[in-house]
Amino acid sequence: VTSVLFDRIGELATGDPASGEGPLGLRDDAALVVEDGEVVWVGDAADAPAADERVDVDGRSVLPGFVDSHAHLVFAGDRRRDFLARATGRGYEAGGIRTTVAATRDASDDELRANARRLVDELHAQGVTTFETKSGYGLTTEHEARSLRIARELTDETTYLGAHVVPEEFAGDVDGYVELVVGDMLTACAPLARWVDVFVEDGAFDADRARAILAAGVAAGLAPRVHANQLGHGPGVQLGCEVGAASVDHCTFLSDADVDALAGSGTVATLLPGVDFSTRMPYPDARRLIDAGATVALATDCNPGSSFTTSLPFCIALAVREYGMTPSEAVAAATSGGAAALRRTDVGHLTPGARGDVIVLAGTSHVDLAYRPGVPSVAGTWLGGRRWRSAAPQLPE
Ligand SMILES: [Zn+2]
Repeated sequence: VTSVLFDRIGELATGDPASGEGPLGLRDDAALVVEDGEVVWVGDAADAPAADERVDVDGRSVLPGFVDSHAHLVFAGDRRRDFLARATGRGYEAGGIRTTVAATRDASDDELRANARRLVDELHAQGVTTFETKSGYGLTTEHEARSLRIARELTDETTYLGAHVVPEEFAGDVDGYVELVVGDMLTACAPLARWVDVFVEDGAFDADRARAILAAGVAAGLAPRVHANQLGHGPGVQLGCEVGAASVDHCTFLSDADVDALAGSGTVATLLPGVDFSTRMPYPDARRLIDAGATVALATDCNPGSSFTTSLPFCIALAVREYGMTPSEAVAAATSGGAAALRRTDVGHLTPGARGDVIVLAGTSHVDLAYRPGVPSVAGTWLGGRRWRSAAPQLPE
């Protein structure tokens, strides 16, 4: 099969405001053709051309696949105990990452690979067709490079995050660790990554060190992105905008100057509702960012410590309930917004030339993603025009 017709679409989100109504570019009674992995035709169902295969979606809603621009999928072990501690009233501390570092270093390649593949399976099942993933649980040259080699098997969007946290063996010697991050570790990791990322936060890396790490990454051919303003007000957002980062991620605590910097730059504000929810932190005000003119993305930040979810539909529901986003803004943030955060023009929309990454919802409207929280909302996922099927082991009959 080289061409697929998605026919009798009740509501098609083209992802292009010029091709339809609202931020999602919605049109009714539509059809879509994907050929050789690419969208080649969009129009009224009544005018649909023939194709090798016809998928009758029977009035359901069809969206571009979700683009998850922020995830940490390569790790071992879990943090159920941290979660239970929080669930019984204690706060989240960034140091919990070190538990996962120890487990990740101890794990075999096959364990890391199997764990990551299981999470990718979950992402696809819930409509994610493009995802980023980071290193950051190895924190030695050998283990960071290993994480990125495994990440590379899963996605082109790999991020070097040696500067996630200072590992225990460098306690009291942050500068010694930064020297490694911009030295041998970077040399080993740069060929395996597209992006360089830093966790800018009290207890992680300050602005000057983060600037040096991002500059070294850029000099090694990587493009910058930043974890910023998660746990409090800080310099990360301004730094990200200053260095032309594709995205600054978290943005939970923003000053007016931070909002202005984001609105006046090409840097996307990526919001991670699963983290705010799971760690019981305040929710950022997406309305303020959107009204100021900033581009907003939503991502899962799937990781075992602070947001162990692979569900962008869940994140969309939270963003509508807690961030003040409309359903169409939230879906746009999880599609075209995520694409912008990865500087990708081939995904996040369904207009001719886009990749044939298509999701068919269970219901007739994208609004259901927020209106029916927790209910399975994605009926089918197509990657480059091919129906995705889970490889996960199923419960025996
Ligand atoms: Zn993260």
